[in-house]
Amino acid sequence: MMSSILTWRWGQGANVGATGDKPDHTGKGGNGGGHVDPDPFTVATRYWHQIEDGRIQCDLCPRACKLRNGQRGLCFVRACENDQIVLTTYGRSSGFCVDPIEKKPLNHFYPGTPVLSFGTAGCNLACKFCQNWDMSKSREMETLADAASPEQLAQTAQELGCRSIAFTYNDPVIFHEYAIDVAQAAAARGVQSVAVTAGYICDEPRREFFRHMDAANVDLKGFTERFYHRICGGHLADVLDTLLYISSETSVWLELTTLLIPGENDDPKEIEAMCRWVVRHLGPDVPMHFTAFHPDYRMMDTPRTPGSTLARAREVALASGIHHAYTGNVHDVAGGSTYCPSCHTLVIERDWYRLGQWHLDAQGCCRTCGHHLAGMFDPNPGQWGPKRRPVVLNR
Ligand code: SF4
Repeated sequence: MMSSILTWRWGQGANVGATGDKPDHTGKGGNGGGHVDPDPFTVATRYWHQIEDGRIQCDLCPRACKLRNGQRGLCFVRACENDQIVLTTYGRSSGFCVDPIEKKPLNHFYPGTPVLSFGTAGCNLACKFCQNWDMSKSREMETLADAASPEQLAQTAQELGCRSIAFTYNDPVIFHEYAIDVAQAAAARGVQSVAVTAGYICDEPRREFFRHMDAANVDLKGFTERFYHRICGGHLADVLDTLLYISSETSVWLELTTLLIPGENDDPKEIEAMCRWVVRHLGPDVPMHFTAFHPDYRMMDTPRTPGSTLARAREVALASGIHHAYTGNVHDVAGGSTYCPSCHTLVIERDWYRLGQWHLDAQGCCRTCGHHLAGMFDPNPGQWGPKRRPVVLNR
């Protein structure tokens, strides 16, 4: 069992303005049920059923892995044991780091505040361009050097003065049970929960998952079925279902991110179609982030995204009716700042993750025209700045 006594200290390698969303070091209970294995990190789950040939089908995500005892799903962290699907990484982490909330990226969710970020291992998509592949594609449990119970994490976030906890680095839907328990523990201490996810999850677990989240940045990786199928090993329609669900049936604050890959998903017509869909179905106030790809994983021969591509995508989004479009992973003060959609005054200035001018009143309204800006705002901006600080949890 994990000890309930926990202290923390700052780790090495604080990294200001770094690209990529990774920790700088690698080091119960469970809403789905009790332990089914002597391994303290393995817990029972609820979303599965037995099919006719005797195999067990996981019903968490649209992949619908059909497994026999001893087999793992594509995500690697869910497996079939004793004729049921278990999560094998409950309470395990690839590391902890305090980031600026802008790094998730969330620009309209308590700007300037620190967020305690962590992830586990594995992923239920197979993106060839993965920028976090060392964790998301890890088959080595040694990657998961750190461990913490939900209560320990919530306590640490509170002691560190973090406004929120982010499930990030790899997709939290695959560690559904752990993420939800952490979110519940965090909520009990007044700490908010943020999901950084590709939104590739089935209907019922989707409802349970987002019931416990306060904000989400969902990767909308492209806007063609071809891109999702060929590059990510998934389906666009399932992701759009998640976006529609979050937007229409929850109060979760939603922002979107698209990593633009030269020659793959950066066609202005595709971006325009995506933005028009967002305006029509999610509304113009959902912020969109266009971020830069760097060669990684199985796309080492594809060039970096030019800054001009990001700027063009932002222009296309604004012309399509999106109120808040941002460039990311580049120094671009104009493209990273927030403007009032009513009078077009700059209201939040950003240079990468550093906040500058602030022209919102205590209610989150534009000081020039009084328009209420979409998002969640404290009366004053946070003071965390662009710092990234690894955290070591000691038990
Ligand atoms: S969560 Fe994992 S095991 Fe379950 S269907 Fe998706 S990839 Fe397969």
